[in-house]
Amino acid sequence: MKLILLGAPGAGKGTQAEMICQTLSIPQISTGNIIRAQIKSGTALGLRVKAIVESGALVPDDLVIELLKDRLAQPDCANGFVLDGFPRTIPQAEALEKICEIDAVLEIYVPDEKIISRMSGRRTCPACGASFHIEYNPPKTEGICDMCGAQLVLRADDDPKVVASRLQVYHDQTEPLIGFYKTRGLLKTVEGQEELADTTRLVKEALGI
Ligand SMILES: [Zn+2]
Repeated sequence: MKLILLGAPGAGKGTQAEMICQTLSIPQISTGNIIRAQIKSGTALGLRVKAIVESGALVPDDLVIELLKDRLAQPDCANGFVLDGFPRTIPQAEALEKICEIDAVLEIYVPDEKIISRMSGRRTCPACGASFHIEYNPPKTEGICDMCGAQLVLRADDDPKVVASRLQVYHDQTEPLIGFYKTRGLLKTVEGQEELADTTRLVKEALGI
């Protein structure tokens, strides 16, 4: 199955991507990883990519598509793949259509308010990295790490204002893509549930796996 995954940051996309890849024995493909691997390879193309990344510029779409085409031609993609983090724009989606035929686009949908309340309840230990949630996984003593006793903090990334602005970026970028794949009859939307097992079940049903 050749699958694209869409979902807001904090919607639980990563967990479902892992589940799908394990269930179908297919790889998860991210363009970030492809770019890093290419740079590491030290080939002529790799050096070109490295120069772009080191200049602080974005790797242009046509080059990303070229790298992606190479990656999707590897033997481990013979039975399909889960594409995560790409495409993000309509031009990218159109370019992708030219190099491969996608079977389905799965959107994990969670209302913004829910994502914001989930993330703003997270507390992280700056000393040992343990993470807690004031509602779903509270520490034994409020504000104190169970593992090492340090004072827990709300990470800047989990700050409701930061989360809200990241969600806005996601919506601005992704809503056109949702429409794009809907008109092609490829879009399957699953609402993320409170319980992970429920989301997993709905995802499996939606994909028929
Ligand atoms: Zn700790």
